[in-house]
Amino acid sequence: MARYTGAACRLCRREGIKLFLKGQRCLTDKCAIEDRNFVPGEHGKSHFRRRQLLGFGQQLREKQKVKRMYGVLENQFRRYFRTAETSKGVTGEILLQLLERRLDNITFRLGFASSRPQARQFVLHGHVLVNGKKVNIPSYQVKQGDEISILQKSRKNPLILNSVESVAGKGVPEWLSLDRENLSGQVLELPQREAITVPIEESLIVELYSK
Ligand code: SF4
Repeated sequence: MARYTGAACRLCRREGIKLFLKGQRCLTDKCAIEDRNFVPGEHGKSHFRRRQLLGFGQQLREKQKVKRMYGVLENQFRRYFRTAETSKGVTGEILLQLLERRLDNITFRLGFASSRPQARQFVLHGHVLVNGKKVNIPSYQVKQGDEISILQKSRKNPLILNSVESVAGKGVPEWLSLDRENLSGQVLELPQREAITVPIEESLIVELYSK
């Protein structure tokens, strides 16, 4: 399974926003966006004032931002788009729903991991159950009514416990429910657009792929 293995903060600096790829560090003043918010690379600083992108450039950056936020590579992202395009409903909204329904994203949303990359690791390492069965596929699509929980013998994993503790006051999105004591959660309904509060202009991605 291919994935990006470079420096996470470079991705945020390239997109000019926090993508929250490093858990708690993203909330501290050690975050690279706080003091080095310019494009990485030799000439990055000279482009400190980001150019106002229009048209294709703007569409491309939006797609890259979303891919990086959810940790999805190009081919898989394109597959999500094709699925969204051929499904009933608004293409951009279905695309976001498919991304939100990924098991690694749900693990992160429930607070069992402090970032999506960490959630991906937990899923790959078999710490996450869906309806009581181990699922080690980060892209697995959860359905309405599915129960997501942490494997009994992983419940003392300090990384998982730290994460659960650090997001204790934050709550979970309204389309999920969480039983913090038992480290389990449920998908109450599939997320509607207004419930996905990430700063994404999905219409730009639809325009890009519809050319
Ligand atoms: Fe992005 Fe987090 Fe790095 Fe900040 S600390 S640049 S939000 S990955």
